[in-house]
Amino acid sequence: MHMIDTQHFKEMLESEKMVLEKELATVARKNPDQKGDWEATENDGDKDTADEAEVADSMEMFERNQAVTNELEIRLQEVNDALSRIEDGTYGTCVFSGKQIELERLEANPAAKTCIAHMND
Ligand SMILES: [Zn+2]
Repeated sequence: MHMIDTQHFKEMLESEKMVLEKELATVARKNPDQKGDWEATENDGDKDTADEAEVADSMEMFERNQAVTNELEIRLQEVNDALSRIEDGTYGTCVFSGKQIELERLEANPAAKTCIAHMND
């Protein structure tokens, strides 16, 4: 059996994590009450002079930020889970079949939890 170079994937995951956190910081702030949770912000910074159109804009901005935040949070969670699997030595194993996940699949998505045969399960 071919050994997985976890160091290589750990580097990929850690750099993706940095990018995700940087992107999250542009649309959200960290929830101080819950570790790992992010809250979308309105990101307008000019509330005092808001007229109706600006309020609508800022609602729209908030909704958009919320959608982006959710997506980024989900991906960040997957990346963090993959990093934990590297730590506990279970990284690179399909959760369905227990087989080693193909290296090309991990190269495309280092947070993958399944082999190619089970990627849509
Ligand atoms: Zn599998």
